[in-house]
Amino acid sequence: MGIICKECGSDALCKSGFVVGKQRYLCKVCGMNFTEGDSRKKHSSRVIRAAIELYVEGNGFRHISRLLKKIFDVDVCYQLCYSLDKVSS
Ligand SMILES: [Zn+2]
Repeated sequence: MGIICKECGSDALCKSGFVVGKQRYLCKVCGMNFTEGDSRKKHSSRVIRAAIELYVEGNGFRHISRLLKKIFDVDVCYQLCYSLDKVSS
């Protein structure tokens, strides 16, 4: 269906009811709840890749989120870090 998590970009979603007539989804990776057509922007794959590289290099989550803010001007929340933890393990 082409629907991905607005938070971490995963397509491992399950349906979790409806909100004002729109399908609501729950992300199995980061636990984010969102509705179809939600305007919250997802992190681009560039940001995710950079985050993973920084993480693999041994940077702490707080340091990573500061760097990503500086480089890409995005706010990275702990859910992304949580999914990084899974990717790298
Ligand atoms: Zn997610």
